This record gives sequence, structure tokens and C-alpha cells, in this order.
Amino acid sequence: MADSSSATPSSSAPSPQQDGSDFLPSSTWWNRSINFFRMVTGRMSAGGAQKYWADADDRYSAFDCKRCEESRDYLLKYSPIIRFMNENIQKLGGELGPHNIHCRTCKGEEEAMQGGFDHKYGIKICANYVQERSVLEDVLTHEMVHAYDHLRFKTNLTLEDDLRHAACSEIRASNLSGECRWANEFFRNKILSFTNHHQDCVRRRAIISVMGRPNCKDDVQAVKVVNEVWDSCFRDTRPFDEIYR
Ligand SMILES: [Zn+2]
Repeated sequence: MADSSSATPSSSAPSPQQDGSDFLPSSTWWNRSINFFRMVTGRMSAGGAQKYWADADDRYSAFDCKRCEESRDYLLKYSPIIRFMNENIQKLGGELGPHNIHCRTCKGEEEAMQGGFDHKYGIKICANYVQERSVLEDVLTHEMVHAYDHLRFKTNLTLEDDLRHAACSEIRASNLSGECRWANEFFRNKILSFTNHHQDCVRRRAIISVMGRPNCKDDVQAVKVVNEVWDSCFRDTRPFDEIYR
């Protein structure tokens, strides 16, 4: 037992391989090629492989965010629905633009969400879950309805918020954003009427969003609150004259 140090001579100082230094900084094409070659031929150490995947995550994240920001800027300029929402938000004294529409990588518990609105922070888009520009347009419209409602009603969509205000805004956001358009297209040639399926889709999404709020007890309460405000909030299509699409 006393002699154990001689049995494990290499345990005192980690070799370069063990600390992952065989993973080269990925700043150049050459280094990335060497890393990739080491990975595919099984020559990368465990530490190096860990660094390799962390680095890949970072680079994908940067790529996602850049694409998201480009789409965001394009939509702010050219999308009729985004421009219309922005004009109406401006009329209420708000200001949305690249400075407060943030593209971020979402992780863990945020996995199910595509975006979010906070009256202090602005709008967050989950760049890793929203990849197509047409989807971003829906997500952005959804969050802009929340921004509009916040300015219009001065709702405080936070912990202490009245759940009914939140439910109302979720109904409106799903109804007006085009998120339930798939229902429209899917059932276009089916016997089932569009209206019911559109409504079902909006209702389901609103209930899920309300359930996700920290001050909502459970699904029973979420359903109850959405039902309470449904009629007036589904009918309220402001700032649109009717459902836009
Ligand atoms: Zn929402």
C-alpha cells in the first residue's frame, strides 16, 4: 500500500492528451480539418473530444444567431405583417427593432418555446428552434401581439400578473400570428370546417402557454381561465380588422 506511488507513475501529471490539448483552436480551417480528422479516426483523447463537441455547439449557436438576426432585419423591413404590427406598436409609444429583438440559443427547460416577451427586456427568439424565416415571422408576430397588448392594457406579464390577462394575450397572439395556419391548410379539403380547427388550435396553444406560467397551478386552472376569457379575446383582432391569414 505504501508503495502504490511506484505502481502508477503516470498519475501525477496529466499528459497533453488527457487535458484535451490535442484539440486545436478552431479559428482556422487547417485546425478544424485536423480536429475533424482526429475525431473520425478515433485519435482524439476523451478530453479533446469533449472540447470538440463544446466548440461545435458554440459554432452552431453563432451560426443560428447570425441567421436569425439576418431574418429578423429582413422581416422588419419587408414583411407586411411585421411592419403593420410595428407601426401599431409605435402608435402606442413602443419601439421594437434590432436593439430589443434578441436572437439567442435556448436550452433545457426552454426547449419547448420558440420565443418570449418581457416588457423590460424586449423580445427573445430561440434561434436554435426557429430556423425558417416563415416560422420566425409567425413567432415574431406572436410576441409583437404580446408587446402590443402590454402597451395597450399596460399588462405586466410577470409572476404576479393576473392570469386572465395572460390568457387573453395568448389567445390573441396565437389567433393573429398565423401559427395555426397549418390547420387551415391541412383541413382545407377535408369535411371538417376550418373555423373549428383553427379555434381548437388557438385554444390548445393558449392553454399550453398559460400552463407554462409560474403562477398557474395546473392544467385545470389553465383551461378554466382560457374559457373564461375566450369569447371576448378571440373576437378581439386589434390592430387587425379581421384575422390576417
Ligand atoms: Zn405567447
